[in-house]
Amino acid sequence: MNQSPQELLVGAKQIVEHLERSGLRLLPKPNDQWSLAWPLANTMSNVVSASSTSTPVSIGQIQIADSSAVIASKEARQGTTTPASPNLDRLPVHGGDGDQRDRISAPASPKPPIERTASASVSVSTESWNGKSLSLPDREAVFNTLKEQVAACRKCEALACSRKQTVFGVGALQAKVVFFGEAPGADEDRQGEPFVGAAGQLLNKIILAAKMKREEVYILNSLKCRPPGNRTPVDEEIANCRPFFQQQLEVLRPEYIVCLGAVAARAVLQSTDSVGRLRGRFHRYRDAQVLVTYHPAYLLRNESAKRFVWEDMQFLMKAMGIPIA
Ligand code: URA
Repeated sequence: MNQSPQELLVGAKQIVEHLERSGLRLLPKPNDQWSLAWPLANTMSNVVSASSTSTPVSIGQIQIADSSAVIASKEARQGTTTPASPNLDRLPVHGGDGDQRDRISAPASPKPPIERTASASVSVSTESWNGKSLSLPDREAVFNTLKEQVAACRKCEALACSRKQTVFGVGALQAKVVFFGEAPGADEDRQGEPFVGAAGQLLNKIILAAKMKREEVYILNSLKCRPPGNRTPVDEEIANCRPFFQQQLEVLRPEYIVCLGAVAARAVLQSTDSVGRLRGRFHRYRDAQVLVTYHPAYLLRNESAKRFVWEDMQFLMKAMGIPIA
């Protein structure tokens, strides 16, 4: 659905109003755009890498600050010893529904599980979530508006031409945990919901193995449109979608974000490091703890990597206080 500039403006204003009601200050910018002022807060004592970036990005008339960060948590530095998972070991190797997004590029066999070298390419931000948390009705209202804006977006013209529909995200708007994927595949493009193909089936099992339910987490992707042929998203496409997923995260303000694969990590942490280097410790995106693990589509090709994902899920469960046994 195409929206006129006036409709987009109305949508943007609705978002501004909702965010204002939750305590955000609106500052007029010299360029006539509105900027949401995030209060700075750095209470984190365990930041280990410190090259800070904070680039403003805009959605419609709204400008928000961009931030990503990495933290090595104390627990992570203590390392993890993780028993093999009966649950994940039983996960299927092939989904077989023809979802080509399941072909996430990956080496034939998994890399050594955790490469702990701190990365210069991962940035640290001291910024917290902005203002007060929104009520559920306000979250719903903001998401409805955002969803319309996503559906009207044509920033990536090629994707806009080839998509059947945009894929916004699905799940609980007060979820503690967000699972962050790459981009819709054929099934998602058809159904308008993320992770409904073979990789999605496997993700459901991973979520269940971690003693959660799909309905109680939130699932979204770096891109809202399917790249033709399910190719890997390019940086420009991720940049074009950034305002959308940043707003989603800002509204959801989850305690944990699980990045599924390197593209998700690139989008959230702005790191070009491999999953092998990023996994095994918490990074930070605003106030959320970010865990990086292998994409379910990678697991469909590399069954032996399932144990690393199970390790990562146990790491998450421990942090969340969910008993593993
Ligand atoms: N892979 C993704 O990264 N996202 C989806 O929604 C489906 C497959």
